[in-house]
Amino acid sequence: MAFKFISEALKTRSQDGLLRRRQVVESANGPMIQVEGKHYINFSSNDYLAMRRSTVVMQAWADGLAEFGAGSGASPLVTGYTNAHQALEAYLAERLNREKVLLFNSGFSANQAICQGLFGHIHQKNPGIIIADKLMHASFVEGAQGVSAKFSRFKHNDASHLQELLSKSNTKNTLVATEGVFSMDGDQAPLTNIVPIINTESTWLMVDDAHGFGTLGDNGLGVVEVFNLSQQQVPILMGTFGKAIGTAGAFIAGSEDLINYLINYSRHYIYSTSMPAAQAYASLTSLNAKLGHERRQVLKERIELFKALADKAGITLMPSDTAIQPVFIGCPEKAVAASGRLKNLGIWVTAIRYPTVPRHTDRLRLTLSAGHDERDIYALVDALQLTLLS
Ligand SMILES: *Cc1c(COP(=O)(O)O)cnc(C)c1O
Repeated sequence: MAFKFISEALKTRSQDGLLRRRQVVESANGPMIQVEGKHYINFSSNDYLAMRRSTVVMQAWADGLAEFGAGSGASPLVTGYTNAHQALEAYLAERLNREKVLLFNSGFSANQAICQGLFGHIHQKNPGIIIADKLMHASFVEGAQGVSAKFSRFKHNDASHLQELLSKSNTKNTLVATEGVFSMDGDQAPLTNIVPIINTESTWLMVDDAHGFGTLGDNGLGVVEVFNLSQQQVPILMGTFGKAIGTAGAFIAGSEDLINYLINYSRHYIYSTSMPAAQAYASLTSLNAKLGHERRQVLKERIELFKALADKAGITLMPSDTAIQPVFIGCPEKAVAASGRLKNLGIWVTAIRYPTVPRHTDRLRLTLSAGHDERDIYALVDALQLTLLS
């Protein structure tokens, strides 16, 4: 049988307790979701500011539809680039203090585009090196593994290990990559230690801030706002709209040359239909919304409440001050069982298993949102206590 590997691969996943299945979400309103007719408080959404269903953002999307139509109709270099796309790019460039910004349909494709763009076909003579944090997101790892650059990893958040790897490499084309807030751990990159060891003459520093953008900083501009990092210090900044912004899509911000280069050479950019203009308009509206300030404050309060209640209940958390609060389990079957018990108690928390996280670090990944009421957090901690400690 030609494709026997398919059934064998599925069998292996199943035997290891790692088979994945999707769940149909039948409705979602506020922090509640309905699955198979039952209702749960959802602690597995990246909608950190509850912008996804904010009337301001939904109305903007509807207004955008009326003005621009449903789809964008073409790729951006053909006729798919509108004043709505341009306005979002210009807003981001100005707020982030970057020369130029480029929109992508997803963070996944933006990460691929960076790796392909900097280390793809035209750099064969100088393949270069990519040095990424060990816990860098799959979309970046996939991109890095798909190009001819040497790919090495530094120990998670270990700036001295990064320095050691940098001192061993003498290529002129080096990309160092890390995340503002790590997607499965919720901890933050030590950027104040990483930035000073990068020689910007020969090395790019890239920060994927998918989880920091929207949630961190007084204006929600993410880690570059928190640490006041210039374009010189972080020449490549990636952020997404599918999480705290409540819409979808992503951007890369950097120098005019970098962005013009991607416009000319990034196949992920050139050969893909642009995001609907209405989506760009709704994203800009979400970024601009005054309620962002208020909701970031509510989110902060919910995180503090959760950590305090968990501590009082004797629940051990991983070190995180962000909306991502993982509970370490260490075994895929046990993580799935814990998630199942929580569901029986009306709490929706997804078990995150290998290969999304390293082996033996399976966990419950809880995400908190400004959409949660205080009582939702109390219910979560009660359920965790019943599930984990009895
Ligand atoms: C979600 C995520 C991405 C991918 O972004 P999408 O817009 O969902 O494709 C990339 N990097 C990190 C760290 C993420 O968490």
